[in-house]
This record gives sequence, C-alpha cells and structure tokens, in this order.
Amino acid sequence: MHGREIVSRCRNGSMNLSFDTIIAGSGLAGASAAFVLSENERVLVLDARQPGSGASGVPLGLVSPLMARRARPVWRMEEAVRSFHYVLEESKASSRFSACGVRKPARSSEQAIEFKDAAMKWPHHGSWFEPEPATERWPHLFSKYGVLDVMSGGIVHMPDYCQALIRAARERGAASKSACSIEAWEDRGDHISAKLSTNEELTARRLLLCLGEGYTEFPELHALHLHPIKGQWIRLTSPDDLKNSVAVSSRSFLAMDDEGIVVGSSYEHVYSDLEPTEAVITMLHKEACLLVPSLEGSTVIDAGAGVRVTVPEVRLPMLGPLPGRKNVWVFTGLGAKGLLMAPLLARELPKFFAKPSAIPREISVNLHS
Ligand SMILES: Cc1cc2nc3c(=O)[nH]c(=O)nc-3n(C[C@H](O)[C@H](O)[C@H](O)COP(=O)(O)OP(=O)(O)OC[C@H]3O[C@@H](n4cnc5c(N)ncnc54)[C@H](O)[C@@H]3O)c2cc1C
Repeated sequence: MHGREIVSRCRNGSMNLSFDTIIAGSGLAGASAAFVLSENERVLVLDARQPGSGASGVPLGLVSPLMARRARPVWRMEEAVRSFHYVLEESKASSRFSACGVRKPARSSEQAIEFKDAAMKWPHHGSWFEPEPATERWPHLFSKYGVLDVMSGGIVHMPDYCQALIRAARERGAASKSACSIEAWEDRGDHISAKLSTNEELTARRLLLCLGEGYTEFPELHALHLHPIKGQWIRLTSPDDLKNSVAVSSRSFLAMDDEGIVVGSSYEHVYSDLEPTEAVITMLHKEACLLVPSLEGSTVIDAGAGVRVTVPEVRLPMLGPLPGRKNVWVFTGLGAKGLLMAPLLARELPKFFAKPSAIPREISVNLHS
C-alpha cells in the first residue's frame, strides 16, 4: 500500500470514510480517473494485476482523431484531443507519446474520396496526399490510392502511460494497490463498502468500476449488456530501412518504437481464451506486409491479446451509477478509442459525481440497462 494509510472506522456513530473514491481497475479508464480525481479527492486505486494490464497492456496504441474506414471524427473530437494532451502534460507523461502523426492509406478509390473529404472538413487534423506525393513522402508505405495524414495523431506506450498516470496520482496523495481485486461491493446509501481479495473491507463515498473485461466476473454487470471483443497483436522486428516512425492505421494498425513494430489487431466476437493464435498471427503479419512491403523479411518476436469492451449499437463509452445504485459507478466501453475517450470522460468525472444528470444521455448507463 502506498500513499495514505487505510483506516476505516466508526467514530461517535458517524462513519469516518478513508476515501472519497475507490477505483477498481487501472487501465486507461481507471488510471485517468485516478489522476484527475486525486487532485481534489482522497482516492484509492487498485488493480487485480498492475496498472496498464488488460486491454491497456497492448504495448503501443494509436491516437487518431479521424478514425476507421471513413475517417470520421471520434465523439467530441476537439475536446477529446485537448483532454488527451492536458492529461498527458499534467501527469508529466509526455515522453510516452510520439507526436508523429498517423497515416491512413486509402484502400480503394471510394475510400480515397472519403479521406479527401475528411481532410477538407478537418484541415487541422488531416491532410490528403495523392499517390505520387504520398510515395515520395512515405516511400515505405503502399499508397496506390493516396494517403490521409492525420497530423494530430501519434503513438502511445499504453502500459507506460497508465503507470505514469498512477505515479502522478500518487504524487497528488492517492493510494494505489496492485495484485488486489475487488470481489464484492455494497451500496449503503451514503457510502459503499468494498471487499477486496486481500480480505480487507474498505469504505468510501463511492466506488468507480473500471474493470475492462473484468466486468464478466460480476453478474450485476451483465445487465449492462456490454460486448467484449478480443483483439490480438504481434510485434515484428523492424527492417533497417525504416528510419522514421511508422504509425499506420488501415484495416490493421502499425506502430513503431525502439523495440520493433506492433501490429494489431483482430476483432473476435467469439473466443474461448486470450491466447494468441497462429492463424491471427499469420493474418496480421500478412496485413502488415501489404501496408509496408519491406516488412516481408521481418520476424514475429512477440504476440498477445486484450479485450475491448464495447457498448453495442451506441459504440460510445458507458459512464454512470449502476441501475438502482447511487454510489457504485461504472466507467467502461472505451472500445478501440480508449486513448482519446478515457481522458475526455475522466476530466468530467468531478462534474458528473456532483450532478449525475449532467452525464450525456448517449453514454449514460440507464440507456442500456
Ligand atoms: C489489440 C488492441 C489494440 C488496441 N489499439 C488501440 C489504439 O490503437 N488506440 C486506442 O485508443 N485504443 C486501442 N485499443 C483499445 C484500448 O486498449 C481500450 O479502449 C482501453 O485499454 C480500455 O481501458 P479500460 O481501462 O476500460 O480497460 P482495461 O485496459 O482492460 O483495464 C481494466 C483493468 O482492470 C483490472 N481488473 C479487472 N478486474 C478487476 C478486479 N476485479 N479488481 C481490480 N482490478 C480489476 C485489470 O487488471 C485491468 O488492469 C486497443 C485494444 C486492443 C485489445
């Protein structure tokens, strides 16, 4: 246990709560929440493993405000980008982000039209390159139909970033605990009690569940109708001719650091475990070679998988008190956009705690349960 001592007792009949908020889970959601809330609250953040496990344990991720096949802006794009940079800088985690931009090569002439359109609509985020100038600029990239350069994007070391957020939260006075799971909770009207795997029972004003895939362990959370999607990634050796940062987002993504190139990912709606499979490893390697042909000779040096928790149909995060509860909250459903959605919503938590009706309807829990 770091930071504050944990003491929870009744004095003169009134409960002395050790924490304002206990946060369970320190992936992108929990770590961002811990950092923001610890500015003005007494926070305990715990994780079944360590900060930046779960989906946030994928070694590298892309920040790309213009996303997916049509390069549509993420939800509340401008605020999301601002919040990402704000949290990154305030937590002194800037070195975990490489502001190298993200390249989106078009895969067809139809997609090229969509991408050009996106560059016209959001010129401070995206810039369109016809095939010839694109090849000149990024000779390693297959760019038959042209490339959308998402200048405001870049690469994040996701586990390092989560760890930096937790470190910064502790500097603000938060307590943190690794290898400690939440096992049960009770909402007692004006506070909660949380039972931990260490046999401790702690009290706080509220509990914030940021469990990622860990939600599946709790029948109460099944009522939220979340949908988990397994995503596998591989790490490839990088050929010597790739001097510049490679950050590519297409059907797959490629992100490069000193240790090689991370390629992701599969979208598996049905799966039995989180082991990487040969078939997907081969598929990702092939896909990487299509995007960057000089990867033909590269070797797979690592592989893994994580689970993106999604909110079906809405495809936005989910945040708010659980149905029928006042003090047990959930912050999840970050899907494939955790890097932009986590800081955006974490920054709004103090406001939402004070006034739950301020939670935008499209992300509120009631809509889905
Ligand atoms: C292959 C892959 C590639 C991705 N690429 C990108 C990308 O390029 N850009 C992007 O923005 N997003 C990307 N994502 C999505 C991103 O990783 C997720 O949106 C984000 O990590 C989800 O964060 P989270 O905190 O909600 O959940 P998680 O990261 O899963 O964190 C949950 C945490 O809770 C802990 N936990 C679970 N149960 C308990 C319990 N009972 N008690 C205590 N702790 C518990 C876990 O140990 C874990 O640390 C990718 C995901 C995958 C799988």
